[in-house]
Amino acid sequence: MRDPRRRYLEQLLELGEREIVLPEGRGNGGTGGPDTGVARPAVRAEAVPEGPAGTPGRVAEAPAAPAARPGPAQPRAPAPPPAAKQPAAPLHLEPGLVVEAPPSSADLFTADPIAQIGTLDAVAAMVDACRKCPLGHSRLNSVPGEGDAHAGFVCVGEAPGATEDETGRPFVGRAGQLLNEILKAIGFAREEVFICNVLKCRPPNNRDPEPLEVQACSPYLHRQLELIRPRVILALGRPAAHALLGSNASLGELRGKLHRYRGIPLIVTYHPAALLRNPHWKRPTWDDVRIARRLYDGEAV
Ligand code: SF4
Ligand code: URA
Repeated sequence: MRDPRRRYLEQLLELGEREIVLPEGRGNGGTGGPDTGVARPAVRAEAVPEGPAGTPGRVAEAPAAPAARPGPAQPRAPAPPPAAKQPAAPLHLEPGLVVEAPPSSADLFTADPIAQIGTLDAVAAMVDACRKCPLGHSRLNSVPGEGDAHAGFVCVGEAPGATEDETGRPFVGRAGQLLNEILKAIGFAREEVFICNVLKCRPPNNRDPEPLEVQACSPYLHRQLELIRPRVILALGRPAAHALLGSNASLGELRGKLHRYRGIPLIVTYHPAALLRNPHWKRPTWDDVRIARRLYDGEAV
């Protein structure tokens, strides 16, 4: 039986890869731990171009430790061509959760008013009139979401905070500033994307959303996504991932996988507010959002 690691490397070679960085661990699918999920480079594999006698390209694996082996110099293959010409490493994401059920049944006979809403502005108006849960009474302003109605990229957070409650706009406090920077880093202006939350009204003292509040409010989010039909969804934090994927998994389990929300690729990453508390999560977040950007750019996985 052939070594699956070798086969994996050969596949990368066939895809044009010239330098491959493997994650740590015995298998290739390791994540760095429940919290970070960072794949640390441990083994560097060099792609060796076709040999002189027409032998097929092969894969040479260097040991994990720096390869400062004494003794006579090993014959080396010619240096690979300049990296700029090479395509980025193919995306290899583990398959994640798939949500297939239709969010709503908008037909002539349905009684569900949310399913009948035809525009994002109409969703916002309905949210503003909503008192389905107690938050509708304690909020200052509803925060339905904002951005391009035809956005290819949608960010979903948890719930409005104090600044959002005061302004009626999502992600405008400190976490919002950080989200703007994250978006900018992957080439998006804030106006180009759509930004919203699972809950459209602020929970008092920013407490966690109650399950019944999420249940009451999430039809608005589903309808927004149905109207926008983005190319990629970025779930910011566990509550957003839970509401969209119907899963109770930890963030460590949800990150680093390609989920699908009604066919739309969905990536889970840390919430910007969590990054403000734990700046060392910025790096893994950066990895996540770059993947989301590549999905947006149409790179197959
Ligand atoms: Fe309605 Fe959602 Fe606001 Fe609750 S949080 S009142 S369900 S809009
Ligand atoms: N955190 C969120 O989840 N949403 C906001 O809009 C602001 C902070």
